[in-house]
Amino acid sequence: MKKDRIFLSLGLKSGSELKYIQSALSENWITLGGPHVDALEKKIECFLDNKKYISALNSGTSAIHLGLILLGVQKEDEVLCQTMTFSASANPIVYLGATPVFIDSEPDTWNICPVALEKAILDRIRKNKIPKAIIAVDLYGMPYKADEVRNIANKYSIPILEDSAEALGSIYKGRQCGTLGDIGVFSFNGNKIITTSGGGALITSSDEVKKKAIFLATQARDDSPYYQHSEIGYNYRMSNIAAGIGCAQMEVLEQRIMLRKRMHEFYVDYFKNIDGIKILSETSDDYKSNHWLNAILIDPETIGGNNTKLRVELEHANIESRFLWKPMHLQPVFRKFPYYGGDIAEQLFDRGLCLPSGANINKNHKLRIKKVFDNFFKL
Ligand SMILES: *Cc1c(COP(=O)(O)O)cnc(C)c1O
Repeated sequence: MKKDRIFLSLGLKSGSELKYIQSALSENWITLGGPHVDALEKKIECFLDNKKYISALNSGTSAIHLGLILLGVQKEDEVLCQTMTFSASANPIVYLGATPVFIDSEPDTWNICPVALEKAILDRIRKNKIPKAIIAVDLYGMPYKADEVRNIANKYSIPILEDSAEALGSIYKGRQCGTLGDIGVFSFNGNKIITTSGGGALITSSDEVKKKAIFLATQARDDSPYYQHSEIGYNYRMSNIAAGIGCAQMEVLEQRIMLRKRMHEFYVDYFKNIDGIKILSETSDDYKSNHWLNAILIDPETIGGNNTKLRVELEHANIESRFLWKPMHLQPVFRKFPYYGGDIAEQLFDRGLCLPSGANINKNHKLRIKKVFDNFFKL
């Protein structure tokens, strides 16, 4: 009999979803927006210590799109973007007719490299192009070097959009990820730390910007008795049913973060005596990752096998693993855009592998993972 598959990261119910969905149905709130949407926004605002304003949207990607619009990005502008990320960080730049300029990673957090970032800004300014925004990502839940990036952003007066799609619950120097930029984004896609089945949120610093985000997300209707539009709108609001699932999921967020952390400790413990493996981990107490996904780098010379080989062996045991995000500047669709930096992101991609990290992974699953590792690392 085929053993049950161990996934990288699965959407898991909290158990109280039906209660919220039932109340949406019984009150006939089966639409975009509604009481669960308002409640979810309140819950996330409370989680962020009521320092920020949340607009619930239908995806993280639409939140990035609206975020860039709110930062004033227009056609022919340039936006600096971390190359080591999921394509959804960069696609909205192109939706706007703007140009992405990709930036390498640094080796500590694997996120945007402050040195390459400043070099890029100086060179773009020399070419008479002042970048309109910086997209910094908290990859796999690990906060980016927020103070360093903030200093550069302030020096050249360029706002930061924090793509915190993977990092709800992560902390940098006591501050929640999602609140480190001028505008922030969460995703509630099915594979993220909590899910609304599909959804996202925009994190802003004022109620005024939140209202503007919701206005744009609900087709930009002017305040008028008939449908009048003075701006281009979008259909990006979260549905009341999805938000109900989100409310139920918020109840277990802390517990899910704890379980992901335990999974991280399992891998740290396993790899601590293996030369040639580096696991993505906090390099100081300034960083507290939610450990959405665990990722390792394999040195093929020391190990005698590479990420491709380990992936195949895990697959044979019905265990999912995945290469790291292929850097954007190496993607066929983005190859024509400028890139600044060296080969850090490329090396991460060449050597990296993401490992099962979901909150559902049990003792038996861990034994199965260990068995493949023991064989692969010849322990
Ligand atoms: C998931 C993800 C997104 C997009 O979020 P969706 O809700 O799937 O649209 C954006 N950026 C990163 C880094 C992501 O992991």
